[in-house]
Amino acid sequence: MPESPESIVQKKKRILKIFKRLDKTYPGAHCALDHSNPLELLVATILSAQCTDKRVNLVTPALFASFKTAADYAAAKPGKIETLIRSTGFYQSKARHIREAARDIAEKYAGEVPKSIEQLIQLRGVGRKTANVVLGNAFGIPGMPVDTHMIRINGLLKLTKSKDPVEIEKNLTALLTPEYWTNYSHLIITHGRQRCIARRPDCGHCEISDLCPSRKIPAC
Ligand code: SF4
Repeated sequence: MPESPESIVQKKKRILKIFKRLDKTYPGAHCALDHSNPLELLVATILSAQCTDKRVNLVTPALFASFKTAADYAAAKPGKIETLIRSTGFYQSKARHIREAARDIAEKYAGEVPKSIEQLIQLRGVGRKTANVVLGNAFGIPGMPVDTHMIRINGLLKLTKSKDPVEIEKNLTALLTPEYWTNYSHLIITHGRQRCIARRPDCGHCEISDLCPSRKIPAC
């Protein structure tokens, strides 16, 4: 680890090493939200706010069986979406976001989820994180979703000084070329779940501890 302030070039080299190490550690890292099309992924990502992907995956089969198109969601009977997604928490606002985004998709995009970040974030109820998840995982267009793991771990790695997701996305996308963006996010999220766990990071066994300025190796 460099001791004096790290240059951008050094930071770019370090993040690439982090990517490659984590890619070896978690070769199957992927989006854990079950989906079979862009609309399903958009809905699942809205549901995943403040909720585990596992819980979302328990809820979505019945939801996706009831609502197949954006127009279906837009025309949902009051309370129907809420009932199906209740266990994911914040279900009233999530149902509203799903309905509003679906209405926009049905009215402005003929029922097709748009494929650009600019259009996606214009949909009511859709923020940059959701938009980037959909771009990267449903369309194969590079996107860098920033969730709580990404905020915390990139801070520990001193790859960003910001706590703001939009700023963090900007910092990281300047360090990595687009082909790495989506997978970098998957890898960091997986690392946050399996090794660098909030409040009890396992630095002693961490695969990237030599690349992390925040490592705390317990005394023997
Ligand atoms: S060394 Fe510790 S703080 Fe750094 S990434 Fe690994 S587990 Fe997290």
